Amino acid sequence: MNIAVKPVSPDRLPELLRRMPKAELHIHIEGSLEPDLIFALAQRNSVAIPYASVDELRRAYAFTNLQSFLDIYYAGASVLLHEQDFYDMARAYLARAAMDNVAHTEIFFDPQTHTARGVKMDTVINGLHCACVDAQAELNISASLILCFLRHLSETEAFETLEQALPHRDKFIGVGLDSSELGHPPEKFARVFARCRELGLHLVAHAGEEGPPAYIWTALDILKVERIDHGVQSSKDAALMQRLARDRIPLTVCPLSNLKLCVFPQLADHNIGALLEAGLVATINSDDPAYFGGYMNENFLQTFAATGLAAQHAYQLACNSFEASFIEPGAKRRYLDQVNEVFASFD
Ligand SMILES: [Zn+2]
Repeated sequence: MNIAVKPVSPDRLPELLRRMPKAELHIHIEGSLEPDLIFALAQRNSVAIPYASVDELRRAYAFTNLQSFLDIYYAGASVLLHEQDFYDMARAYLARAAMDNVAHTEIFFDPQTHTARGVKMDTVINGLHCACVDAQAELNISASLILCFLRHLSETEAFETLEQALPHRDKFIGVGLDSSELGHPPEKFARVFARCRELGLHLVAHAGEEGPPAYIWTALDILKVERIDHGVQSSKDAALMQRLARDRIPLTVCPLSNLKLCVFPQLADHNIGALLEAGLVATINSDDPAYFGGYMNENFLQTFAATGLAAQHAYQLACNSFEASFIEPGAKRRYLDQVNEVFASFD
């Protein structure tokens, strides 16, 4: 049930954005590794990283292009060796998300980044899963895992990854597709997604971040995904916009990531407002928050400040985030009641 949203003055809007309950549906857990945790894990595991101090590492986070981002991203991942490391990484993200009033999160993980280094699938999934279970009890945040295939690798490798993960089928709710988009269209993974669909897994895919609207069409029609990650290029295709609106296919949009990777020249140019006005189930998310300049609330605050979105957009985004999630209908209704409560009592 939607409520009538009262106007909120610009100086009070940030407080409303912080306070409203929200779901995060596009977060790569490896992209939440902060410099101090990388440094602590490097020391704990005696892994050599090419940075002498936390400060030097932090300065390297001011990367200037894709290659310098990837250098630091892989240096970061290299310190993750044991179940406890994966637990600590997820725990740190979940604690941070809870501070932003994220009530529910669906977390991407990239097993191939770790299995390629000789880390076992069991180590990755068990560590992440334990952190999700504990977060429910200790941080009052619900969390599920979505296994992502790296699309620059082959479909055969994706099948191998799926095989390794299936003994843990109860610990993840779906599969996704991430990494470099251009040149790796969704249809490259048609057979492995068909298999995942038979297994009853939820399906999502990155599409239309840098890639063309055609990738969104094939993600929908060939992979049969339920959500599109990013999808901001859909505004270039009117028929696609109608399809997304009609079928209520959510888009997990990540404004600060788009800014950092120059998908939009400045935040003021972002099309999140246009997507909402067109009736799409658009949501705001953080993507790789340690690298792209902020967690959930920072994405909301900067986007609203730059684009002039107002309280009714905040309400729509909060409702959309729970509608777009894979939680069961009863829980969805309870979260939406909490959103309504916050907006009704805010003044
Ligand atoms: Zn992403």
